[in-house]
Amino acid sequence: VYILGIESSCDDTAAAVLYNGTVLSNVVATQKIHEQYGGVVPELASRAHQQNIVPVIDQALKQAGISKSQLSAIAFTKGPGLMGSLLVGTSFAKSLALALDIPLIDIDHMQAHILAHFIEEENYTKPTFPFLAMTISGGHTQIVRVTDHFQMEVIGQTLDDAVGEAFDKSAKTLGLPYPGGPLIDKYAKSGNPKAFQFTKPKVNGLNFSFSGLKTNVLYFIQKQVKENPNFIKENLEDICASLQYTIINILMDGLKKASKETGIKSIAIGGGVSANSGIRKALKDGEQKYGWTTFIPKFEYTTDNAAMIGIVGYLKFLNNEFTDMSVVAKARTKF
Ligand code: ATP
Ligand code: FE
Repeated sequence: VYILGIESSCDDTAAAVLYNGTVLSNVVATQKIHEQYGGVVPELASRAHQQNIVPVIDQALKQAGISKSQLSAIAFTKGPGLMGSLLVGTSFAKSLALALDIPLIDIDHMQAHILAHFIEEENYTKPTFPFLAMTISGGHTQIVRVTDHFQMEVIGQTLDDAVGEAFDKSAKTLGLPYPGGPLIDKYAKSGNPKAFQFTKPKVNGLNFSFSGLKTNVLYFIQKQVKENPNFIKENLEDICASLQYTIINILMDGLKKASKETGIKSIAIGGGVSANSGIRKALKDGEQKYGWTTFIPKFEYTTDNAAMIGIVGYLKFLNNEFTDMSVVAKARTKF
């Protein structure tokens, strides 16, 4: 079974070809245009998707070494995401499926961040059910109880900002370009995580909150810069390390609570922030500390990619779960 996956929910145009769940190609065109704006500009994103989508799909097919006519089905991100961006991928997927007369499969982007763990890889053990998945990304922060591929229940989530936003907005405060998450990760490596103290929010149940931390960072930096205009430059590594340390503590607290409450010790992470070296290490340490079995995705399957769309497409293909031409993009979804 050859599946073409198409992802266009935010600012990355991506296409991948999978053969029976194995990735043959995984192409991502990241839109550089947003760097200078400190965040994704929706109108510019959809325009860039329109320019990128044909070359990206061409390249994915070429790298996979197959022709369009060999495809068994087309899987695309239906949502959640930016409407203008989703529309480009959705319309393209529909037209291509129609032209090739093959089935069309609609995919939930957040489910895909979780099910990326089911991509067939050498030396990678897939999670067994049930497991907990923490999806940490630019728009979401959730703890999901996964009892089967398509049986998922969100048992905790952010009440305000997503963790990726906490990274990106704090990075903006520090004068770093968008997306700042990877840069904070980089500078944190040579900083002291105990140099500064940032607030950890109090939340009920298994929920998260990050807007207080973002404001805390903003006020702290503004105050320090007033006293010393070079404060950021002189302390960048320590600020990043301290901020990342706080964020990881918040996430790990949530996971520990969730694991205790559910009695589930198999724990996976997914989404862009799962590329963070600190959270990857903290999770891995949980194996020793709490007796967890952990599942950490390969880097190329953390931030937005189409391989994760392709694998969900493959799983749905096996279940004969197809959609018809009346399918529409959805900015918000529920599963
Ligand atoms: P969603 O998946 O919720 O719809 P999205 O698709 O925009 O949002 P992803 O591509 O999954 O988000 O993740 C992007 C986020 O991951 C950004 O906020 C980015 O800063 C963050 N990120 C990527 N790499 C790292 C890293 N190494 N450390 C911290 N954050 C990171
Ligand atoms: Fe994403």
